[in-house]
Amino acid sequence: MSYNIPDEVRFVLRRLSERGFEAYPVGGCVRDTLIGRVPSDWDITTSARPDDILRAFGDCKCFDLGKKYGTIGVLVGGEKIEITTFRREAAYTDMRRPDEVYFADDLKDDLSRRDFTINALAFDASGGVIDRFGGRADLEAGLIRTVGDAETRFREDALRIMRALRFSSELGFSLDGGTRAAVMSCRGLLSFVARERIYEELRRLVCGKNAARVIIEYKDVLSPFLPCLSFADEARLRAASEAASLLPPDFVLRVASLVVSSGVPDARECARDTFLSLKSDRAARMRADAIISAYLATDGLSETELKIAAARLGEDALSGALMIKRAAAQCASDDTNAEKFTAALDTASRLIASGECLTIKDLKIDGSDLIAIGIAPSPRMGVTLNTLLSAVIEGKVKNERGELISYAKNWRDKT
Ligand code: ATP
Ligand code: MG
Repeated sequence: MSYNIPDEVRFVLRRLSERGFEAYPVGGCVRDTLIGRVPSDWDITTSARPDDILRAFGDCKCFDLGKKYGTIGVLVGGEKIEITTFRREAAYTDMRRPDEVYFADDLKDDLSRRDFTINALAFDASGGVIDRFGGRADLEAGLIRTVGDAETRFREDALRIMRALRFSSELGFSLDGGTRAAVMSCRGLLSFVARERIYEELRRLVCGKNAARVIIEYKDVLSPFLPCLSFADEARLRAASEAASLLPPDFVLRVASLVVSSGVPDARECARDTFLSLKSDRAARMRADAIISAYLATDGLSETELKIAAARLGEDALSGALMIKRAAAQCASDDTNAEKFTAALDTASRLIASGECLTIKDLKIDGSDLIAIGIAPSPRMGVTLNTLLSAVIEGKVKNERGELISYAKNWRDKT
């Protein structure tokens, strides 16, 4: 084969063909190889049924990745390769999952159930590309086009609408005219799709290299899932999307940036509702809230102010907030402010790395020392510890047990 197919994949293809089955690398791995990207994983489609696959790889570690749907994972040389029986899909009455999966006898059927022409390509054993739907021409033209009639395919599974936008963002491709029109006319069907499935595609879309263009162009498709988009007028939407795409490909950070720069009246509430409705995990929701709170709280950028902010807000939230502010300045070509935030980010990371006292836990005194000087466990104790922390950060007292106790006594007597 002339393409760069890993040895582990060749091994799987050979094993299946020795047993009389057809087997082809298919989908994303073919697409990515043809455009010079390194595939994230290799999928094999085969005439072998799941039990045949298990038998053929009896000496390898196999995983049931949905035997009912025909997918078996095989571990070869440390690589997990997914092998799926040729499939045809039947009716989708709930617009979520096909009611039943039918195994198919030939590759053509399997390729025709795939979402886009660029994802319906396979490598054949002699080193050629099997292209029944014009996928290679679309790859060259940078086009995303459904296999078959776009509206029909989106009615079968509306998640494909999000996938079209996700590939557009990741690959920098445009939607073919018919596919684009169907995205717009069928977008309402996305409300029937499980939020967990949407989350993953939306995450990849927002983290894609071309996210800004896709967010601007498909605002109406995306605003049910990113409600902040509908608050922004055209200029604001452009600035917000471009600023977000200057950030690292971190979904929570980019969404936090979109929310604060879209002009919503209550950014924290909007972010909370966004992550709740996407059924994200709690950690993502809390992190977005922390970053936005830090964004709203961070004013001063002096060393002391940054130390206090790092102590109160945490390293991740503070640096996230500063990155969002810097991206907004960069977008507005405001070099002076962009440099100011770059310097603040450097200072914050130096302070954090230096291990200087930054949180209450780092104080060389604790609750039992305070009880010993008559400050009972109560909100007052928390206030005292925070006061001590600020005093240490501002250099008013050293972080030494004896000094802290006398500072605390003094404070106790004054308040
Ligand atoms: P990547 O791995 O980079 O995300 P991919 O193309 O491999 O890209 P997957 O989500 O892993 O994307 O899907 C593997 C293949 O399965 C696709 O290339 C496509 O042929 C097919 N596919 C996935 N989801 C659908 C769907 N909802 N409808 C039709 N075909 C699909
Ligand atoms: Mg894949």
